[in-house]
Amino acid sequence: MRILVTGGAGFLGSHLSERLLAIGHSVLCVDNFYTGNQKNIEHLRDNRDFELMRHDVTFPLYVEVDGIFNLACPASPIHYQRNPVQTFKTSVHGAINMLGLAKRTGARFFQASTSEIYGDPAVSPQPEEYWGNVNPIGIRSCYDEGKRAAETLTFDYHRQFGLDIRVARIFNTYGPRMDMNDGRVVSNFIVQALKQEPITVYGDGTQTRSFCYVDDLIEGFIKLFFTSDIHEPVNLGNPTPINMLELAEEIKVLTKSQSKIEMRPLPGDDPKQREPKIERAEKLLGWKPKIERQSGLKKTIEYFKEVIAS
Ligand code: NAD
Ligand code: UDP
Repeated sequence: MRILVTGGAGFLGSHLSERLLAIGHSVLCVDNFYTGNQKNIEHLRDNRDFELMRHDVTFPLYVEVDGIFNLACPASPIHYQRNPVQTFKTSVHGAINMLGLAKRTGARFFQASTSEIYGDPAVSPQPEEYWGNVNPIGIRSCYDEGKRAAETLTFDYHRQFGLDIRVARIFNTYGPRMDMNDGRVVSNFIVQALKQEPITVYGDGTQTRSFCYVDDLIEGFIKLFFTSDIHEPVNLGNPTPINMLELAEEIKVLTKSQSKIEMRPLPGDDPKQREPKIERAEKLLGWKPKIERQSGLKKTIEYFKEVIAS
């Protein structure tokens, strides 16, 4: 298949593109490099089945493809809050444009949604049936509501025009090629620990997240996309929660760091808990994460050691 990956030069998009090429597809990577990086896809540029196009998905795109993975959108809070109007446009106009492209070409459409559509969840763990608890006017809303609207559009294009859609609700994912300056917790803690700088824990550090290693997530993407007729959202993530203080300690030990832990104010609307229920993915796709957090963190630490050294 000829597959369009929007946001293909980002963290997840570059791993996905690599995987699609490895299983014999050709990839059209579309990115405006808002948070993406040429370095993430440098190793793919010589592949004859890989094509790169600089383009902003908030504008229409006319290409011929058989499948679309719509990943374009800044994902880290500091990046999506930097230009919230553009974040919302990327989610909503981007989804409309890419769904329109899928409608014209008959391509299968995959939407990269997020656990953020559950907001600050009152239910834990979060099953796909949960409608969420989202502040519509807060500093995270440009991303949360943008992604919720993109889900709505995806299901309306399915009901109204019969599009073959997939919706993955992605929970916190980490691994090599995360941007070391994007402010996400795993990259922040590892880089701070390796540089012997204070490890910055926000709030009292008791908020939880569940971290999935990137290879596991990409395996889930592939299974979801290539399994027939899954026209319902599917949570993809690691169901093992940890709180941020414990994560800081774990990373200190793994990096053998002398860094101090420093408490900082909690940013607004920071969810108190997040943990996916993944029974749907297990049942429909036979998928569950295989990589333990400690072994995923070790690979990520090795990656950041190289980045810092270079
Ligand atoms: P990322 O910031 O590394 O990648 C996003 C990519 O989209 C970047 O290459 C960026 O330049 C590109 N982009 C942004 N706006 C664009 C636009 N208007 N037009 C074209 N390209 C644009 O983030 P990521 O972690 O790789 O996330 C990819 C997708 O997965 C996002 O949609 C994100 O919401 C979703 N997601 C990620 C996580 C995670 O933990 N990594 C969790 C939930 C959801
Ligand atoms: N966090 C932290 N220190 C940091 C960066 C983040 O304690 O240096 C916390 C943040 O407040 C949140 C959690 O780590 O509770 C996960 O943050 P991240 O930005 O990685 O993702 P999200 O909040 O979107 O899950």
